[in-house]
Amino acid sequence: MAKADLHIHTTASDGHSTPKQIIKNAEKHNLDTISITDHDTIRGYRKAVAAAEETNITLLPGVEITSDFNDRECHLLAYCFEPDHRVITQLLVQHYRSRLKRGKWIVNELTKKGLDIDIEEVKAEANGSNIGRPHIASVLIDKGYVASFKEAFIRYLSDQSLGSIYNEYYSHHKVIESVKEAGGAVVLAHPGNLYSEDELEELVEAGIDGIEFIHPSHDYERQKQIEGFAEKHNLLKTGGSDFHGGDKEYQKFFGVVTINTKYVHRLVRLTDQRKALKV
Ligand code: AMP
Ligand code: ZN
Ligand code: FE
Ligand code: FE
Repeated sequence: MAKADLHIHTTASDGHSTPKQIIKNAEKHNLDTISITDHDTIRGYRKAVAAAEETNITLLPGVEITSDFNDRECHLLAYCFEPDHRVITQLLVQHYRSRLKRGKWIVNELTKKGLDIDIEEVKAEANGSNIGRPHIASVLIDKGYVASFKEAFIRYLSDQSLGSIYNEYYSHHKVIESVKEAGGAVVLAHPGNLYSEDELEELVEAGIDGIEFIHPSHDYERQKQIEGFAEKHNLLKTGGSDFHGGDKEYQKFFGVVTINTKYVHRLVRLTDQRKALKV
């Protein structure tokens, strides 16, 4: 069976492997197709393009977009869009800024709790990449406030401990519209137990094309439920390892949590049709 992994992070966001290392690893694990899906940036994808050309690996354009879904953050995977399309550039610029502002907001909340932390330290940790909570967690570990990522999230960075997190991300409606405008497909990332049945219906109504059914956070039963939901609503089914590298969660799933390439073919067929309608 030809295997694909459509959910991978790199150093362009909060992953620990470079785009080149991902391509090498994908070769080693005999993956046929991959997509690099960094948080709100395609810089990792762009860097991987040249490396992938020297291999037999098919690299699909991808990004994991954080959207605002009724004041909650909702991760939407976008695939096979035109990377240079104006609406994609607009979205990613807006989200880069939003991540920086949101980072400042979180740092400010932590300062109010008495922690000594500065946004410049977080920026240094991110090293030019899109800022995310894992970078803030690293700073908290370095400064001795917490012993691990898990502790950083439980005590300071989870949605529960921060309350409603300030953000200026596009709404799910605007993300869906933008990605489709650029000829791409939108897939709900790792639904797990994050959404009620009504919320899933709402996202279908809003126009998502697919749902991620294979993900390390889904046990077999949940996977089957999501598959049933996808079939009922005629949605694409995708999946991947959500690899971040380093010592983080899910790192052992690269090359292990994969999908059959038949799911990729359906995705590509849909987006090819969408692009053909645009010209
Ligand atoms: P952000 O992009 O700032 O919203 O951060 C989200 C990322 O933080 C996720 O993609 C995970 O990599 C990581 N993350 C979220 N929750 C946790 C958690 N409870 N423990 C460890 N890492 C987490
Ligand atoms: Zn991440
Ligand atoms: Fe995610
Ligand atoms: Fe992810």
